[in-house]
Amino acid sequence: MAPPARMLRFVDVAQHMPDKRKAAERRRDFGEIYAEFSAARAAEQASRCSQCGVPFCQVHCPLSNNIPDWLKLTAEGRLEEAYEVSAATNSFPEICGRICPQDRLCEGNCVIEKGFESVTIGAVERYITDTAWEKGWIKPIRPPHQRAQSVGIVGAGPGGLAAAEALRRKGYAVHVYDRYDRVGGLLIYGIPNFKLDKQIVERRAQWLADSGVVFHLNFEVGRDATLAEIRAQHDAVLVATGVYKARELQAPGAGLANIVPAMTYLTASNRKGLGDAVPDYDDGTLDAAGKHVVVIGGGDTAMDCVRTAVRQGAASVKCLYRRDRANMPGSLREVHHAEEEGVEFVWLSAPEAFIGRAAAPKGRRKGAVREAVGSVRSLRMRLGIADATGRQVPEPIAGSDFDLPADIVVKALGFDPDDLPAQFAAPDLATTKWGTLAIDRRSFMTSVDGVFAAGDIVRGASLVVWAIRDGRDAAAQIHRYIQAKAGAAAAEAAE
Ligand code: FAD
Ligand code: SF4
Ligand code: SF4
Repeated sequence: MAPPARMLRFVDVAQHMPDKRKAAERRRDFGEIYAEFSAARAAEQASRCSQCGVPFCQVHCPLSNNIPDWLKLTAEGRLEEAYEVSAATNSFPEICGRICPQDRLCEGNCVIEKGFESVTIGAVERYITDTAWEKGWIKPIRPPHQRAQSVGIVGAGPGGLAAAEALRRKGYAVHVYDRYDRVGGLLIYGIPNFKLDKQIVERRAQWLADSGVVFHLNFEVGRDATLAEIRAQHDAVLVATGVYKARELQAPGAGLANIVPAMTYLTASNRKGLGDAVPDYDDGTLDAAGKHVVVIGGGDTAMDCVRTAVRQGAASVKCLYRRDRANMPGSLREVHHAEEEGVEFVWLSAPEAFIGRAAAPKGRRKGAVREAVGSVRSLRMRLGIADATGRQVPEPIAGSDFDLPADIVVKALGFDPDDLPAQFAAPDLATTKWGTLAIDRRSFMTSVDGVFAAGDIVRGASLVVWAIRDGRDAAAQIHRYIQAKAGAAAAEAAE
């Protein structure tokens, strides 16, 4: 066995992120931007951890990952054990290691003494599980015994998939229904390749299929079956359908052509990367090559849109956000990447109106059918007093308007839930005032007996790591529910 590693090396070993490709090279393709750690580098970086008695990194990881333990095992070169510890709390560690906003979660709370940079937790987590795949340590799930009961899961995003994994391990027959033609939800059609290579998601989908999870793709609940019909086929159902209704822009000209929702734009680009024929992309509508692109919004979705436009070869890419850098909701790491890649941030600015090409500056083409957008008239903003949430409210500065040329405008203002009770023909399905599904926080059950819910459809637009956490917790509650029912049925039969 390897000797115990010397830890606490943050005092003499500097922080090193995995090598990042140069921005000029990144702009030309959709490949991931970080390389993998070498074994030596992973061990060295893991050894910087000071093995805190109360690890705040773990407290601020939504999955309560046992970070100090897998860092120590990595420092000692005991990677298979590190993988087992890591996989015990996280269904998809190689995904979280790539796309969690670590600066706001684990790494942002690493308490290495002031003046030293945090441990590179995400990169080590990714390295451990990528190595486990490479070495063949990750085998399909073979439950000790198969149970007679089945669970139906609506939605093949990270929430539904994490639940599917946990329920398969318990031996249930698991059926996942998704309206898309591929497994992964936003992991496949939202998040671009340069953050998360599609092959990473496809490998997990195949692994779940090899583990016995049955996928019913191109199957939309509400169109191909009602919720009650799905419920009737299974002992319990989990709804993990995410949130997709794009928030709309309220400004004159918002109906002009080529003003598109973020998901429309990103899905087209992701589908193209996957080799699909995409009519709206192939005819040039959603391809930013040679065009001026303005993205409106300041969250992670906006960052994905601007960075996609850069890679498509846009003539210019601007991000219009009504607050300033310090007050934007997106990860600062992502903003930094975008700036390196040539995105221009227009802070403290909001759209006032969209001007059609007919009225646009000389030299811009006129639209043939529905008039297309030609520019965005914008207003400068200042931050006023804080509202009830504590955030300063942006206020327009009169007479400060200016025009930005725009051939494509992408709306990335956030998402709301669809009206699921109507869509699922399930009027008894209770919702909150935000339209998300109402659940009992302890049991994860909705107002309909045996129907549970997890992920964004409960939280509102959130993070992959929270969807995984919810999926795992909901699976544990579904297990309790089914076993309680089975126990009650057995007791009744014995009477
Ligand atoms: P989803 O991933 O949305 O999956 C829901 C699934 O349900 C979909 O496959 C959908 O097709 C299916 N579905 C919906 N309705 C039906 C129906 N009626 N019948 C059948 N199937 C249905 N989070 C991060 O942590 N890091 C990031 O870097 C990050 N980047 C993001 C970038 C973008 C562009 C977006 C939009 C989000 C990003 N997020 C990120 C957020 C993250 O993707 C979500 O929080 C997470 O995917 C939610 O998981 P979920 O399983 O609840 O839902
Ligand atoms: Fe950090 Fe996310 Fe991994 Fe938790 S799951 S340790 S928050 S990267
Ligand atoms: Fe190690 Fe930082 Fe976590 Fe402390 S907070 S256990 S130093 S990773």
